[in-house]
Amino acid sequence: MSKVLLVDDSAVMRKIIQRNIKETGMIVDEFIEAGDGKQALDKVNDDGALDLILLDWNMPNMSGIEFVKALRSLNLPNRIPVVMVTTEGSETKVSEAKESGADGYLTKPFTADQLRDTLGDYLLIK
Ligand SMILES: [Mg+2]
Repeated sequence: MSKVLLVDDSAVMRKIIQRNIKETGMIVDEFIEAGDGKQALDKVNDDGALDLILLDWNMPNMSGIEFVKALRSLNLPNRIPVVMVTTEGSETKVSEAKESGADGYLTKPFTADQLRDTLGDYLLIK
């Protein structure tokens, strides 16, 4: 069972990411969605057994960077991998995200190859 939490304030973007993941042949049994960092923290607490979190940067209430800092400060027994999926592509932003506890980084818009290369470290591919 692989479970992926998609965190993005755009419902359209959440659908696009899901469709792209399916099209690239990566195996995900369940997608869980959250519209901001606060909702995402609730989902993590409700269901700690997540295999991957895909995280937007710019969101209302709690941004992606605030979320990843909060998540890492929980010190969960299983470290959930976090990949940022964002339009924020500058080197400063990428290093800020990694220092805050993100494992991977994907800049929007992305190609199917970039998606597979980045997420292939965390998900099985058919
Ligand atoms: Mg956003």
